[in-house]
Amino acid sequence: MELGKYSFGTGDRFAKQGEAQLEAMILAAGKGVDICPVWNKSNREHLTIKSKPESARLAADQAVKALGWDKPYFLDADHINLTNVDGFIEHCNFFTIDVADYIGKKASDDDMKSFLLENEKFIGELQIPGIEESFEITAEMLKAIGEKFLFAVKQASAIYQHILMNKKNGPFVTEVSMDEVMDAQSPVELFFILSAIGSEKIPVATIAPKFTGRFNKGVDYVGDLDLFEKEFEQDLLVIDFAVKTYGLPANLKLSVHSGSDKFTIYPIMGRLIKKYNKGIHVKTAGTTWLEEAIGMAMAGGEALQLMKNIYFGALDRFEELAGPYATVIDIDPKQLPAPEQVNNWNGDQFANALRHIPGHGEYNPHFRQLMHVAYKLAAETGETYLNLLEKHKDIVGQQVTENIFDRHIKRLFNI
Ligand SMILES: [Zn+2]
Repeated sequence: MELGKYSFGTGDRFAKQGEAQLEAMILAAGKGVDICPVWNKSNREHLTIKSKPESARLAADQAVKALGWDKPYFLDADHINLTNVDGFIEHCNFFTIDVADYIGKKASDDDMKSFLLENEKFIGELQIPGIEESFEITAEMLKAIGEKFLFAVKQASAIYQHILMNKKNGPFVTEVSMDEVMDAQSPVELFFILSAIGSEKIPVATIAPKFTGRFNKGVDYVGDLDLFEKEFEQDLLVIDFAVKTYGLPANLKLSVHSGSDKFTIYPIMGRLIKKYNKGIHVKTAGTTWLEEAIGMAMAGGEALQLMKNIYFGALDRFEELAGPYATVIDIDPKQLPAPEQVNNWNGDQFANALRHIPGHGEYNPHFRQLMHVAYKLAAETGETYLNLLEKHKDIVGQQVTENIFDRHIKRLFNI
């Protein structure tokens, strides 16, 4: 099973929207863009929902069967490490090996020595084909990069080997991610990270660096668009050069952990991958739950009331819910609508405040971000939430498909 040139990671926290998500890929294929669906779910999400990786596998298989999808699809063990990968190994065939926590930890002296030896040939003027400027590489710089990233790559290698040893049911796709950190990795750093990955012989299919700017959950990109464009373009060319230099897999591509809804950078990425004829993996996870919330609000009645109650609960438990996401959300409590106000909203008003349509008068990104982290409260209602989801399956599914296709895929691929 090949990941293909374009792949799209979608989350499905409650494992009920597989068909609606796949429908968006079918719509894209109808427009001539083949996108491989990847269902991603992290250990954190499983813990919050109290679900297990097999449920995600079951939901994906069911969706694929129901819609007669005969092309590849993947199950992504998202942001795993050695402490939590085991439960995913049997059920997943895509592993996002997250080594962000190991950045800055010290590699052994021997490892550092061989890293420096291997890369000393780049000291001086480094010219990467396609990039106009050249990069001045010094011995100190190389050492600093090794000290920052080598241990993390060694860890990625250990996790990869662990999966390889224990996975008995077929091949899998490997991603290395370093995105959940504050500092972006520069294209030069990416080049030497790929050097280390090549030395470890990790057959990496996708690499997820931290890009410049803020990738807050469920809302648009915040940052310097020109800087992002320059960095993204250089990263594409760096990967090209690294593939040739280090013998990495020829179809290695960038993985953008978007945190969802990075509408303003979609056209930039779309244009650049087209310019260089490159593939891409875009991960956009949490908005499926928000689309469920929008659909439930539109359904009205007890479904709308449940969504209001979840919002009231989220206001009460703000610290608990927002805390774990502190680096990826920016909520101004003063901009959150008061409970009395929300209590008077009809379904459309609730949906409009939540739905991410930039420029819409009723859209409220603070409300949206708080609801984004409030999925735990839906999970706590257990069957109540799931039964209502089932009851309003059509209107909810419609929101999910429309969101992925109209707001994400169309923007990225300019269709
Ligand atoms: Zn990520």
